[in-house]
Amino acid sequence: MEYISTRGQADGQGFEDVLLAGLARDGGLYVPEAWPRLSTDEIRGMRGWSYADVAYRVMRLFVGDAIDSDALRTIVDDAYGAFRHQSVAPLVEIGPNAWVMELFHGPTLAFKDVAMQVLGRLYDHVLEKRDQHITIVGATSGDTGSAAIEAIRGRKRASIFIMHPKGRTSEVQRRQMTTVSPEDAPNVHNIAIEGTFDDCQALLKSMFNDAPFRDEISLSGVNSINWARIVPQAVYYVTAALALGGPDRKVAFSVPTGNFGDIFAGYVAMQMGLPIERLIIASNSNDILTRVMQTREHKLDAVVPTMSPSMDIQVSSNFERLLFDMYGRDSDAVRGLMDALNATGRFEISQAALDGVTDVFNAARVDEAQTLEMIGQVYRETGGYLIDPHTAVGVAAARRGLVDSDVPMVTLSTAHPAKFPEAVEQATGVRPKLPAHMEGLFEREEYYDVLPNDLGVVQEYVRGKVGGA
Ligand SMILES: *Cc1c(COP(=O)(O)O)cnc(C)c1O
Repeated sequence: MEYISTRGQADGQGFEDVLLAGLARDGGLYVPEAWPRLSTDEIRGMRGWSYADVAYRVMRLFVGDAIDSDALRTIVDDAYGAFRHQSVAPLVEIGPNAWVMELFHGPTLAFKDVAMQVLGRLYDHVLEKRDQHITIVGATSGDTGSAAIEAIRGRKRASIFIMHPKGRTSEVQRRQMTTVSPEDAPNVHNIAIEGTFDDCQALLKSMFNDAPFRDEISLSGVNSINWARIVPQAVYYVTAALALGGPDRKVAFSVPTGNFGDIFAGYVAMQMGLPIERLIIASNSNDILTRVMQTREHKLDAVVPTMSPSMDIQVSSNFERLLFDMYGRDSDAVRGLMDALNATGRFEISQAALDGVTDVFNAARVDEAQTLEMIGQVYRETGGYLIDPHTAVGVAAARRGLVDSDVPMVTLSTAHPAKFPEAVEQATGVRPKLPAHMEGLFEREEYYDVLPNDLGVVQEYVRGKVGGA
């Protein structure tokens, strides 16, 4: 399986190199040269399989022969063996023909574990084989960071630096990252940037675009721009569809969306051959994706902090992957749009490009009042089921009547309610409890450094820690 850049000016790469590189050298994102397919019979044949079995089968398609079967099998089994629920991504019925898929049973209580637990093990395998060491730098609005740290901590061949926007993540999110002690995991470094998540993401992109720096520290990324993050996420679209009658019945998904990685994985599952009726892009007040789907104009705006901080994003990096397909895989067109975005903060999608995807995607914006209302409503309608604010954005979008009511509607539940106890308590009067393995989080010591939103300062810091380690 060969991967190409959306911007067309980087060499094609195999899965291992895509895994280690993250972003392509031309600033583009890697996508498969052609979509691998499963036939309807092959998908039907997976009914009743365990999550790990489906994960192995789907990942095999995208990994190709880069990793041998036994090793991939072990990676997948170990990754999902660490989940607290043996179904890994169980479905919970919340109303007529309406489900949430709980993706938060991994170590950090957020859906990012589903991919990250695989990613950490893939790194181990490939770096060991190549006898290499890498430096992972990531930007997080909350959940990516803790999931990445949890996947990388203590691994011998990778150091990890996670930048989070100072004061803009929830306390649980911050503590999950910063309470990892240097004695337990000397390869973990937390940085609080004085800025927004988009500032952190811009710093990260600049580091990747600085080729000498990138080579000097063997820089790699774990943000959802890394293709190896997308693949494991395509798996749960398949397991959900199978559970609800697929592939002989179409299923719709509502996806609380930030960087467009999770929902793009749904699109990948569709390209692979899974019958999906619709993918609903659920945005909070940071609604650039809803606006682009409704007006064709992709225009940056200031980030508004919300109670669903993992979606407080204006630049949805993975959207570039969809643009690539929308423009018939024309990398010159994508490069033109991205140049315009850099120069002017906006671009406009052609009507023809948008028309190609409107039967797949719908978008809905859910404001703060509607988010709270939905947490309360689901709680009352189900006799006490608690959802977190991100999930609530998804459920509210799912209920906008965008899809026929006879189509099963699955909202991806991306975080455990106990990660956002204030909002949940405000909406329901009930304070959700952290699972047992996380008790004591608020008593532990925190370890992080505060740095200004300044590329030079951050690079110097990373150099110092890598060199001094
Ligand atoms: C990361 C995250 C999202 C957004 O996912 P993307 O892949 O960035 O679109 C939604 N909810 C939670 C809880 C998250 O951690």
